[in-house]
Amino acid sequence: MTDAAHKPDHAPVTHFIRNRIRDDVAAGKNDGQVITRFPPEPNGYLHIGHAKSICLNFSMAQEFNGQTNLRFDDTNPLKEEALFYERIMDDVRWLGFEWAELRHASDYFEQLYGFARELIASDKAYVDSLPAEQIREYRGTLTEPGRNSPDRDRPSAESLELFERMKNGEFADGERVLRAKIDMRSGNINMRDPVLYRIRRAHHQRTGDEWCIYPMYDFAHCVSDAIEGITHSLCTLEFEDHRPLYDWILDNISIGCHPQQIEFSRGNLDFTVLSKRRLRQLIEAGHVADWDDPRMPTIAGIRRRGYPPAAVREFWESVGVSKSESIIPMSVLENAVRNELNETAPRAMAVLNPLKIILTNFPPDDTQWVGAARHPQKPEFGSRKVPITRELYIEQSDFMLDAPKKFFRLKPGGEVRLRNAFIIQCNEVIEDATGRVIELHCSYDPDTISGQPGAGRKVKGTIHWVSAEHGLPAEVRLYDRLFNVANPLADKQREFTDMLNAESLEVLSDAVVEPSLGEAEPGDFCQFERTGYFVVDQDSSPEKLVFNRTVALRDTWAKVAG
Ligand code: ATP
Ligand code: MG
Repeated sequence: MTDAAHKPDHAPVTHFIRNRIRDDVAAGKNDGQVITRFPPEPNGYLHIGHAKSICLNFSMAQEFNGQTNLRFDDTNPLKEEALFYERIMDDVRWLGFEWAELRHASDYFEQLYGFARELIASDKAYVDSLPAEQIREYRGTLTEPGRNSPDRDRPSAESLELFERMKNGEFADGERVLRAKIDMRSGNINMRDPVLYRIRRAHHQRTGDEWCIYPMYDFAHCVSDAIEGITHSLCTLEFEDHRPLYDWILDNISIGCHPQQIEFSRGNLDFTVLSKRRLRQLIEAGHVADWDDPRMPTIAGIRRRGYPPAAVREFWESVGVSKSESIIPMSVLENAVRNELNETAPRAMAVLNPLKIILTNFPPDDTQWVGAARHPQKPEFGSRKVPITRELYIEQSDFMLDAPKKFFRLKPGGEVRLRNAFIIQCNEVIEDATGRVIELHCSYDPDTISGQPGAGRKVKGTIHWVSAEHGLPAEVRLYDRLFNVANPLADKQREFTDMLNAESLEVLSDAVVEPSLGEAEPGDFCQFERTGYFVVDQDSSPEKLVFNRTVALRDTWAKVAG
């Protein structure tokens, strides 16, 4: 990916993190270097919220000629799976970013153990034998101070020995923990002797059964940041209250590097949920097919849905970064997708709900090929040839039997222009026994096609069409919002899964597309003229094309929300 592709066409929206880093660089802090990291836990797929953090971390480093590491925060083997490491790397690359170094918290298990021993040796940590529920009880509450554990004054030599025995597997899970010795009366509960290590006999994806003690997030994260020489550790607001602990740990070990943690608010979108746990629930209950279901707000989902990575980057850049929580309308993201695809998507014609028309004055076995631009404003996209035959399909919704005056598409006796071709007139309407319109008999005016004297003749409506003989059958999947309320988590009385949009997927199996799309491969995208932006799904094959609707041409939810 070139640098130019990352540059938005407007000046970057400035924000406090950008300003802060700029000031640090100007002041020569960290020798003017900027090193960031993106630290996912490999316990699920990434979602659009993670994309905010990815874009921020990578773009800040790029902007100041720094570097970004991808670090798997893999300290909880019970919830983590090998597959997720791969998918996360794929997703970060798809977004257009390449990490300087690939790291894992598990790379540092030995060093982390050593730093924990340092804390114990300097009487800043102790091994506690209190059972978990008592640790909780002793911790106190927001309004009540905590109490010291009876083990708090254990001599450090004893704790060192016990810690080693924990490591050697001499205790059962939960029998001992290592705790920092800070302040049980602190107003910040995170500082009330937080647990640094626990015993957990679980097979780790990378270190196998080498360890039966695992560091807690708060201990592993700051030390990993410092080991990598991270300068700015950007994280979401829920870690603000953990910052004193982050700083305390680094101040009390001999690591010689102290990254700066800076918090920003999580990205939220309406009409969806951004949480791995809840997304997993949707899959497990069968509400969606999998993590890459095109309705999912996962990176894998929006990728399969056809969202271009440039639109996602542009979206988060335009939203900016702050410390206030907000929910961004999905329509803002969809508009970024439309803007990008309007520039990049070649045009094609497809009829989603076909109605057959017969051009009664067109020679039965004839095919006429008309040239059509692939993009109306971009001659460099070139053109394609579209076949016209006696039998064509038009969209059912482009014909009306009892049409109101303002209906400018096809009606009995009315005229309409076929896009890229000529004007036709509807002479006869064929209905089946139930009165359903099944076919239209029309005549065409050969004089009105491009290059002929009547080409300039104006009629009010232009509709798209596909040749019945040459058109290719296709399945078209129309996706809509996953939930039918803006904030599915707001109503505490109901499960968020009760607010799913029952019409989030509509499958049209009788669609017909122009033959130029016959070679289309999964991931290829185009605009179906007058309909929306579509992408070829991975289920597609030359025998049966499958298209996903990325986004409609217009925002159909604007009237609902407004
Ligand atoms: P989830 O709650 O969805 O499981 P998480 O925060 O537990 O998310 P991690 O894998 O721990 O997921 O997150 C990796 C990084 O992405 C963290 O730095 C986290 O702060 C950031 N992140 C997660 N969700 C968002 C979000 N909605 N907006 C911005 N950053 C996010
Ligand atoms: Mg997490």
